[in-house]
Amino acid sequence: MPEGKGGIHMKCALITGASRGIGAAVAREFARRGWAVAVNYSKSEERANALVEELTAQGVPAMAVRADVADRVQVQEMVDNVLEKFCQLDILICNAGVSEVGLVSEIDEVRWRRIFGVNVDGVHFCCQAVLPHMIHRKAGSIVTLSSMWGQVGGSCEVAYSATKGAVIAYTKALAKEVGPSNIRVNCVAPGVIDTEMNGRLTREDLAALADETPLCRIGTPEEVARTVAFLASEEASFLTGQTLSPNGGLVV
Ligand code: NDP
Repeated sequence: MPEGKGGIHMKCALITGASRGIGAAVAREFARRGWAVAVNYSKSEERANALVEELTAQGVPAMAVRADVADRVQVQEMVDNVLEKFCQLDILICNAGVSEVGLVSEIDEVRWRRIFGVNVDGVHFCCQAVLPHMIHRKAGSIVTLSSMWGQVGGSCEVAYSATKGAVIAYTKALAKEVGPSNIRVNCVAPGVIDTEMNGRLTREDLAALADETPLCRIGTPEEVARTVAFLASEEASFLTGQTLSPNGGLVV
């Protein structure tokens, strides 16, 4: 079990899709709060390893662990590896996600299945894999990543919106099911955040989105990370089944 300065036991978090973007910011925020972190990635091995090196250099117990969250077998192996190294898993952040932009008439079945595979099956496989451990300990906290489009629907993002709406419903239902085991499950549904996921947007698109936002700007991964860390932490000890939306007021 990882120990911090003075031999104090550290809480352990597994963050999916932590090689970059919001997930990497969450890993840094958790490390800053004194938690050991497992950094999941699918393709970006170098970036995941660089993040782990950065955190390890700060004295934070950290490990990189590869798994495609859409693959149940890989997810189970990932959780087994993390439990082998950390012996305990206190927090799961289901952050890994992909987006799809295009007219609903143009989404082919392969892309439709893939986005549901990563964004919905991925959340389910990760929760299923960690829950036996958390239920056994009668302790744990899970945070899922939805999107404001999962709350209100986005034009030309029908598949993405449908997956993110499913994540909110999944979170609410699971919170009710595992609450009696003292496990909290909450959701973060961000607005427009400055990451590679929005790399296809032009400077003009981003300026227009900022203009529409009451706080007059798009958000940062660090702002989402602080919301995730709050929900996962003891500061939110009576919150479960909730969705918090760091979105600058764009959706209220
Ligand atoms: P990025 O595209 O910047 O990063 C996505 C991360 O997910 C990467 O670390 C990537 O890892 C990982 N990932 C993708 N597919 C898989 C997979 N099959 N298995 C494991 N990991 C995978 O996205 P963001 O950081 O912007 O988004 C993070 C989450 O926040 C997503 O769920 C997204 O839907 C949500 N969100 C983002 C918003 C935004 O405006 N950016 C707004 C609202 C919600 P790798 O490179 O190794 O494949």
